[in-house]
Amino acid sequence: MADKKRILSGMRPTGPLHLGNLHGALENWIDMQERYDCFFFIADWHALTSNYEHPEKIPDYVKQMMIDWLSVGLSPEKSTLFVQSHIKEHAELFLLLAMITPVPWLERVPTYKDQIVQLAGKDLSTYGFLGYPLLQAADIIIYKADGVPVGVDQVPHVEITREIARRFNYLYREIFPEPQAILTETSKILGWDRRKMSKSYDNAIYLSDSPEEIMEKVSKFVTDPARKLKSDPGNPDICNVFDFHKLYSPKETVDEIRHQCRSAQIGCVACKKKMAKNLIAFLEPIREKRAYYEKRPELLAEIILTGGNKARESAQRTMEEVRAAMSI
Ligand code: AMP
Repeated sequence: MADKKRILSGMRPTGPLHLGNLHGALENWIDMQERYDCFFFIADWHALTSNYEHPEKIPDYVKQMMIDWLSVGLSPEKSTLFVQSHIKEHAELFLLLAMITPVPWLERVPTYKDQIVQLAGKDLSTYGFLGYPLLQAADIIIYKADGVPVGVDQVPHVEITREIARRFNYLYREIFPEPQAILTETSKILGWDRRKMSKSYDNAIYLSDSPEEIMEKVSKFVTDPARKLKSDPGNPDICNVFDFHKLYSPKETVDEIRHQCRSAQIGCVACKKKMAKNLIAFLEPIREKRAYYEKRPELLAEIILTGGNKARESAQRTMEEVRAAMSI
């Protein structure tokens, strides 16, 4: 473990995980487990920053998220998997860092202004929402993480974390390494309406969906809009069903579908059914593992507890150094 670099990443429990989360984030995490000392956490305090009006759903989302993680192949043996609110030290470090963080640093985080506009229906003029990049900074540096896997839009959050770590090191004592952003290049997965797959658009296929739900959702997929009749040739390059074939069907099927669509030998309904069948087969092992953990709540609780204990030990060690450095 000691020679491996440490990385940390989190996800907000705001609903069940979908195919976009799997291909856009989790597959990368699963891969990183082999090369890094990984800390992955369920960011339930962060879920409160924008969902503070409906906290009652969060505990179930937390449980479901851990089931999703375990079912796709995140491993408690390889990684430290935990729930943010179980490690109170994050909140203590957040408070101490707040003393040295200039407010304009937070106000100029691009996602802050962006989200205020995008989520105009919610009152986000809260202290918690302004401070969430600082809480993220605490989440990261409390484990002295070397790297944070992020998408492009999250890079400023790692940048402010580095600035805060630097400021702490300058004011008190060199405790914190400056974490690097590890850019994850992933293509966007689209939902049935061809917008980005997202729970907030209600266009997602969830890892927990039943075969019937998947069939039903796939039947709604928008295909090549110019193709009105089965006898019209289609253009698979602009068809989302075809993109899904590329993800879930064997290469021969993909080649066959490409040819059959272009030459109007297969209709969209049959093409969707083929894709849905392969998608259902792809998700089958995940569904089986989900059922396994659903039936064993004690095992799930044990995994969450053990991961939390491991994380806490590390966080407590850092906090002893921090308190000493700040004369607290
Ligand atoms: P969210 O809960 O929407 O913030 O999603 C968590 C992570 O899943 C994001 O940081 C992305 O890496 C990934 N993700 C979410 N939706 C998609 C999508 N439609 N396509 C690809 N990746 C996605």
